[in-house]
Amino acid sequence: MRRNAFAGLGLALALSGCGISQQQEVQMGQQYAQQINAQLPIVQDAELNRYINVLGDSIAKLADTRDLDWHFFIVDSPEVNAFAVPGGFIYVNRGLIERTDRMDELAGAMGHEIGHVVRRHSVKQMEKQNAASLGVNVACALTSVCNSQAAAAANNIGGAAVFAKFSREDEAQADQEGIKNVIRAGISPEGMPSLFQKLLDERKRKPDAVSNWFASHPMEEDRIQATQAAIDKYDPAILRSLTKDTPLYHRFVERLKSLPPSPVQASGN
Ligand SMILES: [Zn+2]
Repeated sequence: MRRNAFAGLGLALALSGCGISQQQEVQMGQQYAQQINAQLPIVQDAELNRYINVLGDSIAKLADTRDLDWHFFIVDSPEVNAFAVPGGFIYVNRGLIERTDRMDELAGAMGHEIGHVVRRHSVKQMEKQNAASLGVNVACALTSVCNSQAAAAANNIGGAAVFAKFSREDEAQADQEGIKNVIRAGISPEGMPSLFQKLLDERKRKPDAVSNWFASHPMEEDRIQATQAAIDKYDPAILRSLTKDTPLYHRFVERLKSLPPSPVQASGN
């Protein structure tokens, strides 16, 4: 997502000192999601949306101790990308889905994005940026701003934070969370390193096709190794019992591929 596409996003953020509550996080997420859905081409096919939401819910519900209402969207863009908005809104580009070959690869990417939301990575960045740019004195003396979802204070701060790059630590944590998240859902975690390797290989051949993914998901071989090392700690018998692939997933991808080509201006990042 180009940041300037969201210059108009005005959201009430908790100012420094009070932190962002779950309620504020969800309100913020809903507003972002509304804007995103108005500005990005979202696949509207009911069957495709049902599948991505059933798969996403199966992973997210078990990972989430806050009982968020999760929403999963397919962005009709050929570029490889996926991103998470605070509060439980997850976007996966058609270009990413069409590059997966097995259900567990798609699940791995979703498990990773779910991990960002569960660990509140964007929210923590917003809290830090607020603290840095506004100073502690403003704080929650402005309770009307803190409490009003309509207030448009902190406009650009929020817009920048949602799509800011995560740190390497956040990425690594989301990978680790992603592994746990899919395993809890009975899905093999092997799809995650498998997809990462596929994207790294593609970067060597066609860097442009995956540049957005790598801009927002810094990744090298060592990240794949770290992911694999975490997986190798599990009992092989457990890993073997997990689902790698399903006929439903293949029906889903076939149907997605049968849609008309993505609109040209589409950009998932
Ligand atoms: Zn990430």
